[in-house]
Amino acid sequence: MPPTLQQKNWHLLVAATSIGVAFAVMGIKYVAYLMTGSVALFSDAMESIVNVLTAIAALIAIRVGSHPPDRRHPFGHHKAEYFSAVLEGALIIVAALVIFHEAYGALLEPRALTEPAAGLLVNGVATAINAGWAWLLIDRGRAWKSPALSGDGRHLLSDVLTSVGVLAGLVLATLTGWSILDPLLAGVVALNILRLGYDLVMRSMSKLMDEAASPEIEARIRAAIKANAEGALQAHDVRTRTAGPAIFIEFHLVVPGAMTVAAAHAICDRLEAAIEADIKGAQVVIHVEPEHKAKPKGAVEV
Ligand code: ZN
Ligand code: ZN
Repeated sequence: MPPTLQQKNWHLLVAATSIGVAFAVMGIKYVAYLMTGSVALFSDAMESIVNVLTAIAALIAIRVGSHPPDRRHPFGHHKAEYFSAVLEGALIIVAALVIFHEAYGALLEPRALTEPAAGLLVNGVATAINAGWAWLLIDRGRAWKSPALSGDGRHLLSDVLTSVGVLAGLVLATLTGWSILDPLLAGVVALNILRLGYDLVMRSMSKLMDEAASPEIEARIRAAIKANAEGALQAHDVRTRTAGPAIFIEFHLVVPGAMTVAAAHAICDRLEAAIEADIKGAQVVIHVEPEHKAKPKGAVEV
């Protein structure tokens, strides 16, 4: 079921608020770093940058990606989100490298935190805001059946867990005087950020290069062809490529050579309607062939 206009506006509002929340949390966490001089809290603030960027990319994806096709972009604008995601991933990797640099400096010269109690409290407030927003995103994502929203929420929740770990480690460092824990924690956070950035870049690049639909979707396409191609002989060379929520599907349909164009076209219309009804975002193009073009292997026999 396509989202209603009202639902889409709510999605936009949530995405825009995500940016505001991420900015605020990043600012508060940065203040906590300035109060304490802790590189672990610095890394925690940098991790919030990841959320700011993710939230902005989500907004761009919803806005630009949903522009209808036009003369210069007849297949639509779905790939806009991948461009912003690649850029985002690259910036995240830079953030991780900056943390490594800071952590290395602190590792050579471990120092006790200034104002540990106040700084940890300030960071704790930001973490609590994040936890509340994560809960709301997961809840709304479930209610609106939006995997993107609940995915954002779960990502944010994993950040909250990291922050809680950092806070616990710093409390331990303050109580025991083990200043070395601070840069070590920062290093762990940086490794996690590096992994996020790497995954994001790799995933987005693969999708920019016309990634095929999932095996599950391809199985459903073949089943829909088999169930709706009565009158044809076989289908072969089924190819799919995905662009955001759109799935472009094409295949060859072999029919008896003596069949009229009108009859073959009726089968094609039936197939297109059946596949597009079964698979969200599907756009189907079918190439008709006479029987001597049939392929012995890998075809969907009717
Ligand atoms: Zn063929
Ligand atoms: Zn037609």
